[in-house]
Amino acid sequence: KGTLMAGKRGVVMGVANDRSIAWGIAAACAAQGAEIAFTYQGEALEKRVRPLAESIGADIVLPCDVSDEASIDAAFAEVEKRWGKIDFLVHAIGWADKAYLRGRYLDTPRAAFLQAMDISCYSFVAVSQRAAAMMNDGGSLLTLTYLGAERVMPHYNVMGVAKAALEASVRYLAADLGDRNIRVNAISAGPIKTLAASGIGDFRYILKWNELNAPLMRNVTTEDVGGSGLYLLSDLSTGVTGEVHHVDCGYHVVGMKNPAAPDI
Ligand code: NAD
Repeated sequence: KGTLMAGKRGVVMGVANDRSIAWGIAAACAAQGAEIAFTYQGEALEKRVRPLAESIGADIVLPCDVSDEASIDAAFAEVEKRWGKIDFLVHAIGWADKAYLRGRYLDTPRAAFLQAMDISCYSFVAVSQRAAAMMNDGGSLLTLTYLGAERVMPHYNVMGVAKAALEASVRYLAADLGDRNIRVNAISAGPIKTLAASGIGDFRYILKWNELNAPLMRNVTTEDVGGSGLYLLSDLSTGVTGEVHHVDCGYHVVGMKNPAAPDI
């Protein structure tokens, strides 16, 4: 066991199961000595999250629906009661009505747009308010984004627009919190087969396309993202804030199909 995160405590939001990106990051941090409090959405997920938490010796496992201010307050109040202060926060939460994660962005109704923005973008601001209030010795806030924020990806639609707003939020929050030595960054992860990803149209095709065309010629794993998350949450990255760090086997630098890749 390493000691990079020894003495650090943090909240990890967004574990749904052991394939969740949040779990990859939590496991990497726990392996370096971090103490972690988990939040989950809804009773159905509790029975998945609790055993995972227990497997790394974590006993703070709390419900938190980020669309509900009272629920966020209750979760953070409990963490504050238990720990007083925290050192890091992972926000690995996103959601849009899957009816609009296919077809044309043009067809997005107002209600679906606002809901995607609320849960996938504003919630990071909401939880950063509570987390930053508990960081009295600097800290690190981390969220998850996707290349669909920067470029048009088929089917990503309203989620791409919400992620673009999330990435802009990272920059504004970094500026707001820098004077307290609180860093704010995002990881732009390549496609990974998770629960959230299964809502995106043609996701298998997207996975295959990335595998064939990324410079590293494979897809990322939650362990890959976990390692980069560990870097951004630990003191290895004390000079880094406002950054969107791509962990996508290099796919974001590619401008054209790999001529050697077979057709799919
Ligand atoms: P996941 O399904 O394992 O995690 C998504 C989490 O969001 C779940 O735990 C879910 O409970 C939570 N969530 C949704 N609505 C919520 C709400 N109202 N309140 C509280 N929690 C809520 O999938 P994942 O792929 O690990 O997603 C984590 C993050 O990574 C998301 O922001 C996603 O957009 C982002 N991301 C995923 C990929 C990918 O290909 N899987 C790529 C880039 C970025």
